Amino acid sequence: MVGSFVYGGLPTRVVFGSGTLARLPDEVARLEARRVLVLTTPHQAVEGERVVRLLGDLAAGVYCGAVMHTPAEVTRDAMETLQGAGADCVVSLGGGSTIGLGKALALRTGVNQIAVPTTYAGSEMTPILGETKDGLKTTVRTLDVLPETVIYDVDLTLSLPVGLTGTSGINAIAHAVEALYAQDRNPIVSLMAEEGIRALAAALPRIVERPSDAEARAEALYGAWLCGSCLGTVGMALHHKLCHTLGGSFDLPHAETHTVVLPHAAAYNSAAAPEALARVATALGVADAPQGLFDLAGSVGAKRALKDLGMAEAGIEQAADLAVKNPYWNPRPVDRAAIRDLIARAWAGDRPV
Ligand code: NAD
Repeated sequence: MVGSFVYGGLPTRVVFGSGTLARLPDEVARLEARRVLVLTTPHQAVEGERVVRLLGDLAAGVYCGAVMHTPAEVTRDAMETLQGAGADCVVSLGGGSTIGLGKALALRTGVNQIAVPTTYAGSEMTPILGETKDGLKTTVRTLDVLPETVIYDVDLTLSLPVGLTGTSGINAIAHAVEALYAQDRNPIVSLMAEEGIRALAAALPRIVERPSDAEARAEALYGAWLCGSCLGTVGMALHHKLCHTLGGSFDLPHAETHTVVLPHAAAYNSAAAPEALARVATALGVADAPQGLFDLAGSVGAKRALKDLGMAEAGIEQAADLAVKNPYWNPRPVDRAAIRDLIARAWAGDRPV
């Protein structure tokens, strides 16, 4: 039954395909930008130089210092480069870390952003920015940080290592799973969520088998776009709260943590949100969504235990305390004892129950 709902679409222009990076100069012109600073991580500086060559006279150079969690000191440093170069636009080429830096610069200066995502994390489709200062993470939600244009170029994802492809893809699926039982869910976003899960679940094992499979890479990136749109449009719940807590307090890697936690968070919510979990199962092509998510993680060779990501067993109690503090809305009430059990199972790498 279709009840009442509110749907707010995101005003981002999306250019999708293979070789689409070549359209960057046209997209810069469309935004009437005159000077463009390219952003990357140190690891992707070479790709950044390629973009500079593509932009020719429009380019103000590459700032290749983006790191995870958008630390304030990196943003300050990049601001100096941006202002010194007189740039009025940034091109953020990379994953969520690089796109986060572009958002932080846009928030402070109003520069236009063209995001060129090379992972499946989905930040390019959200009006959300997480930043860290003196070890504390703050999150802002404003359309001021949403990129004006997103160029998805499948070719740039061919170099994404197989390990990160699997975990980043499941990180994207997590956005869609939570969108299906979000408090503010709506029929359009639910369609995107189901299709995003289907596309990624079909593509990821094919990519693991043959990393250069361009068709599977395209399907995965298409799924990531849909899942990123879910993250940007409706609220997230227990799973994202757990991952933020674990990532922030125990310094665990982002995509890998999402991959371990997702089957357990889905199991926790399955009785409270049966319709949503049935749609996840249909999209995965399995009978049971939490088990299917656990098996998908196995089939892409991902680690399935927090202990294997470097979390100490002693952290389980602290993680449970933090996870129940200021909880996000969740379809099933957040109960400390049950959350502790969930984290203990995820820590050990047990099957979800
Ligand atoms: P990442 O951006 O940290 O990238 C991980 C590493 O992979 C980096 O060294 C990067 O240079 C490299 N890499 C990326 N693409 C590559 C490619 N195609 N080939 C080879 N190497 C490549 O990882 P991520 O998982 O994309 O992003 C995680 C960060 O993004 C976290 O800080 C998270 O909080 C944030 N995030 C924010 C939002 C949001 O809406 N604000 C959404 C999702 C993630």
